[in-house]
Amino acid sequence: MNSSLVLVVNCGSSSLKLAVVESKSGERVIEALAERLFTPKASMEIRSQEMGETRIGLSDADHGQAFEVFATHLAAEQELNGRIIAVSHRVVHGGEYFHCPVLVDEEVLQKIEACSGLAPLHNPANLQGIHAATKHFPGLPQVVVFDTAFHQTLPETAYLYAIPYGLYEQQQLRRYGFHGTSHHYLMLEAARRLGQAVEKTNLLTVHLGNGCSACAIRRGRSVDTTMGLTPLEGLVMGTRSGDLDPGLILHLLEHMGYSPEETDELLNHQSGLLGLSGLSNDMRTLEESARTGNRQAELAIEVFCFRLAKSVAALTVSCAPLDALVFSGGIGENSVLVRKRTLAWLEPLGFVLDKQKNEVHGEDSDGRISPKNAPDVRVIPTDEEVMLARGAVSLIAGESP
Ligand code: AMP
Repeated sequence: MNSSLVLVVNCGSSSLKLAVVESKSGERVIEALAERLFTPKASMEIRSQEMGETRIGLSDADHGQAFEVFATHLAAEQELNGRIIAVSHRVVHGGEYFHCPVLVDEEVLQKIEACSGLAPLHNPANLQGIHAATKHFPGLPQVVVFDTAFHQTLPETAYLYAIPYGLYEQQQLRRYGFHGTSHHYLMLEAARRLGQAVEKTNLLTVHLGNGCSACAIRRGRSVDTTMGLTPLEGLVMGTRSGDLDPGLILHLLEHMGYSPEETDELLNHQSGLLGLSGLSNDMRTLEESARTGNRQAELAIEVFCFRLAKSVAALTVSCAPLDALVFSGGIGENSVLVRKRTLAWLEPLGFVLDKQKNEVHGEDSDGRISPKNAPDVRVIPTDEEVMLARGAVSLIAGESP
């Protein structure tokens, strides 16, 4: 792959993350994060190798206005003049349309729009990013990389819900999976560290950030994952409940007077670690509180680890014999305690933890935190932005993704 600079764009519902990434090394030449968009407190922080750190107030700005501020800043960076070759956008939901990165055209925009019903907070924001970038960088190819694309290899057995089949055929109600860019990166990096061809590698990758998902990878293809039609399914997350009895939702609606909006708020924003602990969605805060005797914080961590271990065990049926179990994301990369508790639950399946290596996140052993005679368990930092940059460069160079 040629070494090239790519502007990577990640639009959240109220945030905008931008970075100019050197596609081969992954180096960030410039990074920006705009937060609290649509509020008087909106602001952007820009960190650049050439111009240092800048903080800009953006009062009530939307994605387009924030992008404009960044584009103006970028134009002042002499070093970057004319060196960026493409813009690469993260798009959350690509439905069944997209299996790999694609160049933006009218048809692609329409399909992203068509998937908006399945990701109402994310896809419209992603589209705003594409429109803003097209306006400010009309001469650059615009590429989109989908969170769902890596999981388009899921077999029917893994993606179908056991509901009337017509709902899949007519409404595309099925499991899609998310965090695909991260699981894809972890697969490539794990295979590299294992010294194996990707096509011969079986993995279980666990992305634990504010959102959490696990993925079973068989011979280089995603074959099962914990998130479903939406990112609400699966593991316990920062503020999302993950799996629960669908009957509980009916109970809320029919017997407790919840509206659909209130149910959405409860399950997406008030549940998970936050709901269980009544304290915080942040694992670091919970660990600190548990250490000083907060029982609810302790309980939230316990449920989080138990549910994670249960999902890892379930996913193993799709990817045994396993070459490695990989922990990643803010929690997976940094929490000694979560890895320890989760692996303790997995001892009946033969998993063993090397305590010392776990303490230092496997930094002295290529990420490995299990002894040589036990299943391989690794900590690998994820890098979704470099995947976005590389996806764009490969597409433009005409290489298969
Ligand atoms: P991410 O969304 O990938 O940035 O991950 C955010 C999550 O990682 C939050 O729950 C953080 O509390 C957690 N996290 C980051 N650093 C640590 C740490 N040192 N120990 C435990 N959790 C951490």
